[in-house]
Amino acid sequence: MNNMICNNTCQSVLYEGKSKLICKGIDDDSLIIRYKDTLTAFNGEKKEVLSGKGKLNAAISNLLYDYLEKNGIETHIIRQIDETSTLVKKADIVMVEVIVRNIAAGSFSKKYGVAEGTPLKNTTVEFSVKSDKLGDPLINASQITAIGLAAKQELDEMVEKALLINTLVRALFKKAGITLVDFKLEFGRYKGRLILCDEISPDSCRLWAEDTGNKLDKDLFRQDLGDVLDGYRKVLFQLTMNN
Ligand code: UDP
Repeated sequence: MNNMICNNTCQSVLYEGKSKLICKGIDDDSLIIRYKDTLTAFNGEKKEVLSGKGKLNAAISNLLYDYLEKNGIETHIIRQIDETSTLVKKADIVMVEVIVRNIAAGSFSKKYGVAEGTPLKNTTVEFSVKSDKLGDPLINASQITAIGLAAKQELDEMVEKALLINTLVRALFKKAGITLVDFKLEFGRYKGRLILCDEISPDSCRLWAEDTGNKLDKDLFRQDLGDVLDGYRKVLFQLTMNN
Protein backbone atom coordinates (compact mmCIF):
# COMPACT_ATOMS: atom_id res chain seq x y z
CA MET A 1 0.00 0.00 0.00
CA ASN A 2 2.92 2.36 0.60
CA ASN A 3 3.24 5.10 -1.99
CA MET A 4 -0.15 4.31 -3.50
CA ILE A 5 -1.63 7.56 -4.73
CA CYS A 6 -4.62 8.59 -2.65
CA ASN A 7 -5.70 11.94 -4.11
CA ASN A 8 -4.09 15.27 -4.78
CA THR A 9 -4.02 16.30 -1.11
CA CYS A 10 -3.09 12.89 0.21
CA GLN A 11 0.20 11.66 -1.20
CA SER A 12 0.42 8.09 -0.02
CA VAL A 13 -1.76 5.63 1.83
CA LEU A 14 -0.13 4.07 4.87
CA TYR A 15 -3.14 2.04 5.95
CA GLU A 16 -6.66 1.41 4.74
CA GLY A 17 -9.30 0.91 7.40
CA LYS A 18 -12.97 0.00 7.02
CA SER A 19 -14.15 3.60 6.88
CA LYS A 20 -10.97 5.69 6.58
CA LEU A 21 -7.70 5.91 4.72
CA ILE A 22 -4.67 6.88 6.76
CA CYS A 23 -2.16 8.76 4.62
CA LYS A 24 1.25 10.34 5.10
CA GLY A 25 1.02 13.76 6.72
CA ILE A 26 3.02 16.92 6.11
CA ASP A 27 5.78 15.92 8.53
CA ASP A 28 6.74 13.08 10.90
CA ASP A 29 4.28 14.30 13.56
CA SER A 30 1.16 14.30 11.39
CA LEU A 31 -1.09 12.10 9.28
CA ILE A 32 -3.94 12.76 6.88
CA ILE A 33 -7.13 10.84 7.47
CA ARG A 34 -9.53 10.54 4.60
CA TYR A 35 -13.11 9.53 5.27
CA LYS A 36 -14.40 6.88 2.85
CA ASP A 37 -17.95 6.33 1.63
CA THR A 38 -17.79 2.68 2.70
CA LEU A 39 -20.09 1.61 5.51
CA THR A 40 -19.54 -1.71 7.27
CA ALA A 41 -21.27 -3.53 10.11
CA PHE A 42 -20.95 -6.83 11.97
CA ASN A 43 -17.15 -6.68 11.84
CA GLY A 44 -17.12 -6.06 8.09
CA GLU A 45 -19.58 -8.82 7.13
CA LYS A 46 -22.12 -6.30 5.83
CA LYS A 47 -20.67 -3.67 3.51
CA GLU A 48 -21.98 -0.95 1.21
CA VAL A 49 -20.71 2.19 -0.46
CA LEU A 50 -22.93 5.22 0.17
CA SER A 51 -21.81 8.16 -1.89
CA GLY A 52 -21.42 11.23 0.33
CA LYS A 53 -21.16 9.37 3.65
CA GLY A 54 -17.48 10.27 4.06
CA LYS A 55 -18.19 13.99 3.72
CA LEU A 56 -21.01 13.82 6.25
CA ASN A 57 -18.95 11.97 8.85
CA ALA A 58 -15.98 14.29 8.35
CA ALA A 59 -18.20 17.35 8.83
CA ILE A 60 -19.95 15.93 11.91
CA SER A 61 -16.79 14.68 13.58
CA ASN A 62 -14.85 17.89 12.86
CA LEU A 63 -17.71 19.98 14.29
CA LEU A 64 -17.79 17.87 17.47
CA TYR A 65 -13.98 17.81 17.86
CA ASP A 66 -13.84 21.57 17.37
CA TYR A 67 -16.45 21.97 20.12
CA LEU A 68 -14.53 19.58 22.41
CA GLU A 69 -11.26 21.48 21.84
CA LYS A 70 -13.05 24.71 22.82
CA ASN A 71 -14.11 22.92 25.99
CA GLY A 72 -10.62 21.81 26.96
CA ILE A 73 -10.42 18.31 25.44
CA GLU A 74 -7.33 17.85 23.29
CA THR A 75 -8.11 15.98 20.06
CA HIS A 76 -5.90 14.81 17.22
CA ILE A 77 -7.27 17.41 14.78
CA ILE A 78 -4.80 19.94 13.37
CA ARG A 79 -6.99 21.27 10.56
CA GLN A 80 -9.47 20.24 7.92
CA ILE A 81 -7.90 19.96 4.46
CA ASP A 82 -10.97 19.40 2.32
CA GLU A 83 -14.44 17.89 2.64
CA THR A 84 -13.15 14.40 3.34
CA SER A 85 -9.55 14.94 4.48
CA THR A 86 -8.28 16.13 7.84
CA LEU A 87 -4.73 16.71 8.99
CA VAL A 88 -4.23 15.08 12.40
CA LYS A 89 -1.52 14.61 15.00
CA LYS A 90 0.25 11.27 14.57
CA ALA A 91 -0.54 9.52 17.84
CA ASP A 92 0.26 6.05 19.09
CA ILE A 93 -3.27 4.63 19.26
CA VAL A 94 -4.22 2.84 22.48
CA MET A 95 -5.56 -0.50 21.24
CA VAL A 96 -8.57 -0.28 23.54
CA GLU A 97 -11.96 1.08 22.48
CA VAL A 98 -13.89 2.97 25.14
CA ILE A 99 -17.67 2.57 24.95
CA VAL A 100 -19.92 4.96 26.84
CA ARG A 101 -23.64 4.31 27.33
CA ASN A 102 -26.49 6.49 28.60
CA ILE A 103 -29.37 4.31 27.41
CA ALA A 104 -29.49 0.54 26.88
CA ALA A 105 -29.18 -0.58 23.24
CA GLY A 106 -27.23 -2.90 20.96
CA SER A 107 -24.95 -5.50 22.50
CA PHE A 108 -25.67 -4.21 26.03
CA SER A 109 -29.41 -4.86 25.67
CA LYS A 110 -28.77 -8.29 24.20
CA LYS A 111 -26.17 -9.38 26.74
CA TYR A 112 -27.93 -8.20 29.88
CA GLY A 113 -31.57 -8.58 28.78
CA VAL A 114 -32.33 -4.88 29.25
CA ALA A 115 -34.91 -3.55 26.77
CA GLU A 116 -33.54 -1.16 24.18
CA GLY A 117 -34.38 2.39 25.20
CA THR A 118 -34.16 1.81 28.97
CA PRO A 119 -32.39 4.82 30.52
CA LEU A 120 -29.42 3.70 32.62
CA LYS A 121 -29.29 4.88 36.25
CA ASN A 122 -25.69 5.86 35.68
CA THR A 123 -23.51 6.23 32.60
CA THR A 124 -21.51 3.07 31.93
CA VAL A 125 -18.00 2.87 30.53
CA GLU A 126 -16.68 -0.38 29.08
CA PHE A 127 -13.63 -1.41 27.09
CA SER A 128 -13.05 -3.66 24.13
CA VAL A 129 -9.85 -4.71 22.39
CA LYS A 130 -9.38 -2.82 19.13
CA SER A 131 -8.89 -5.86 16.91
CA ASP A 132 -10.91 -6.83 13.83
CA LYS A 133 -9.21 -10.21 13.91
CA LEU A 134 -10.51 -10.94 17.42
CA GLY A 135 -13.88 -9.25 16.80
CA ASP A 136 -13.28 -6.43 19.34
CA PRO A 137 -13.86 -8.58 22.46
CA LEU A 138 -14.88 -6.93 25.72
CA ILE A 139 -12.05 -6.66 28.23
CA ASN A 140 -11.82 -5.35 31.79
CA ALA A 141 -9.32 -2.99 33.38
CA SER A 142 -7.23 -5.66 35.12
CA GLN A 143 -7.02 -7.69 31.89
CA ILE A 144 -5.95 -4.58 29.94
CA THR A 145 -3.12 -3.78 32.33
CA ALA A 146 -2.20 -7.50 32.61
CA ILE A 147 -1.54 -7.81 28.88
CA GLY A 148 -0.08 -4.31 28.59
CA LEU A 149 -2.61 -2.67 26.25
CA ALA A 150 -2.62 0.39 28.53
CA ALA A 151 -1.30 1.40 31.93
CA LYS A 152 -3.64 1.83 34.91
CA GLN A 153 -3.06 5.60 34.91
CA GLU A 154 -3.93 5.80 31.21
CA LEU A 155 -7.12 3.81 31.74
CA ASP A 156 -8.19 6.08 34.60
CA GLU A 157 -7.53 9.10 32.40
CA MET A 158 -9.46 7.59 29.47
CA VAL A 159 -12.48 6.93 31.71
CA GLU A 160 -12.36 10.44 33.17
CA LYS A 161 -12.06 12.00 29.70
CA ALA A 162 -14.76 9.72 28.24
CA LEU A 163 -17.24 10.80 30.94
CA LEU A 164 -16.43 14.47 30.39
CA ILE A 165 -16.75 14.05 26.60
CA ASN A 166 -20.11 12.34 27.18
CA THR A 167 -21.38 15.25 29.28
CA LEU A 168 -20.25 17.80 26.70
CA VAL A 169 -21.37 15.99 23.54
CA ARG A 170 -24.66 14.83 25.06
CA ALA A 171 -25.52 18.45 25.90
CA LEU A 172 -24.65 19.58 22.37
CA PHE A 173 -26.83 16.86 20.83
CA LYS A 174 -29.63 17.70 23.24
CA LYS A 175 -29.61 21.31 22.01
CA ALA A 176 -29.96 19.87 18.50
CA GLY A 177 -32.95 17.72 19.51
CA ILE A 178 -30.97 14.47 19.40
CA THR A 179 -30.48 11.88 22.16
CA LEU A 180 -26.98 10.47 22.54
CA VAL A 181 -27.63 6.83 23.43
CA ASP A 182 -24.09 5.40 23.31
CA PHE A 183 -20.80 5.87 21.48
CA LYS A 184 -17.26 4.59 21.05
CA LEU A 185 -14.05 6.55 21.56
CA GLU A 186 -10.41 5.93 20.76
CA PHE A 187 -7.46 7.64 22.39
CA GLY A 188 -3.81 7.99 21.42
CA ARG A 189 -0.53 8.88 23.06
CA TYR A 190 1.00 12.06 21.67
CA LYS A 191 4.08 13.81 23.12
CA GLY A 192 3.36 12.38 26.57
CA ARG A 193 -0.32 13.31 26.53
CA LEU A 194 -3.43 11.23 25.99
CA ILE A 195 -5.52 12.77 23.20
CA LEU A 196 -8.86 11.96 21.60
CA CYS A 197 -8.36 10.28 18.20
CA ASP A 198 -10.50 8.59 15.53
CA GLU A 199 -13.97 10.12 15.08
CA ILE A 200 -17.31 10.77 16.73
CA SER A 201 -19.93 10.33 14.02
CA PRO A 202 -23.16 8.43 13.31
CA ASP A 203 -20.89 5.47 12.42
CA SER A 204 -19.69 5.30 16.01
CA CYS A 205 -22.67 6.62 18.02
CA ARG A 206 -26.31 5.75 18.52
CA LEU A 207 -28.34 8.91 17.97
CA TRP A 208 -32.13 9.10 18.25
CA ALA A 209 -34.33 12.01 17.18
CA GLU A 210 -35.95 13.43 20.34
CA ASP A 211 -39.29 14.19 18.66
CA THR A 212 -39.91 11.01 16.65
CA GLY A 213 -37.55 8.54 18.35
CA ASN A 214 -36.22 7.70 14.89
CA LYS A 215 -32.71 6.29 14.63
CA LEU A 216 -30.27 8.61 12.84
CA ASP A 217 -27.13 6.46 12.98
CA LYS A 218 -25.51 3.28 11.69
CA ASP A 219 -28.35 1.17 13.12
CA LEU A 220 -30.29 2.35 10.03
CA PHE A 221 -27.78 0.31 8.06
CA ARG A 222 -27.31 -2.56 10.54
CA GLN A 223 -31.07 -3.13 10.77
CA ASP A 224 -32.10 -2.08 7.23
CA LEU A 225 -34.38 0.62 8.61
CA GLY A 226 -34.34 2.97 5.61
CA ASP A 227 -32.31 5.79 4.12
CA VAL A 228 -29.02 5.79 6.05
CA LEU A 229 -27.68 9.04 4.61
CA ASP A 230 -30.93 10.80 5.38
CA GLY A 231 -30.31 10.09 9.07
CA TYR A 232 -26.67 11.27 8.87
CA ARG A 233 -27.78 14.44 7.00
CA LYS A 234 -30.33 15.20 9.73
CA VAL A 235 -27.62 14.89 12.39
CA LEU A 236 -25.38 17.37 10.59
CA PHE A 237 -28.24 19.74 9.78
CA GLN A 238 -29.61 19.77 13.33
CA LEU A 239 -26.14 20.21 14.87
CA THR A 240 -25.36 23.06 12.49
CA MET A 241 -28.73 24.80 12.92
CA ASN A 242 -28.86 24.58 16.69
CA ASN A 243 -25.32 25.41 17.73
N1 UDP B 1 -19.18 0.93 18.24
C1 UDP B 1 -18.28 1.32 17.28
N2 UDP B 1 -17.34 0.45 16.85
C2 UDP B 1 -17.23 -0.81 17.34
C3 UDP B 1 -18.15 -1.22 18.33
C4 UDP B 1 -19.11 -0.33 18.76
O1 UDP B 1 -18.31 2.46 16.81
O2 UDP B 1 -16.33 -1.55 16.92
C5 UDP B 1 -20.21 1.87 18.72
C6 UDP B 1 -21.60 1.52 18.20
O3 UDP B 1 -21.88 2.20 17.00
C7 UDP B 1 -22.48 1.99 19.32
C8 UDP B 1 -21.62 1.81 20.58
O4 UDP B 1 -20.28 1.77 20.13
O5 UDP B 1 -22.78 3.37 19.18
C9 UDP B 1 -21.97 0.57 21.36
O6 UDP B 1 -21.96 -0.54 20.50
P1 UDP B 1 -22.42 -1.99 20.99
O7 UDP B 1 -21.43 -2.49 21.99
O8 UDP B 1 -23.83 -1.92 21.43
O9 UDP B 1 -22.21 -2.93 19.78
P2 UDP B 1 -23.07 -3.17 18.47
O10 UDP B 1 -24.48 -3.34 18.88
O11 UDP B 1 -22.82 -1.93 17.67
O12 UDP B 1 -22.45 -4.39 17.91
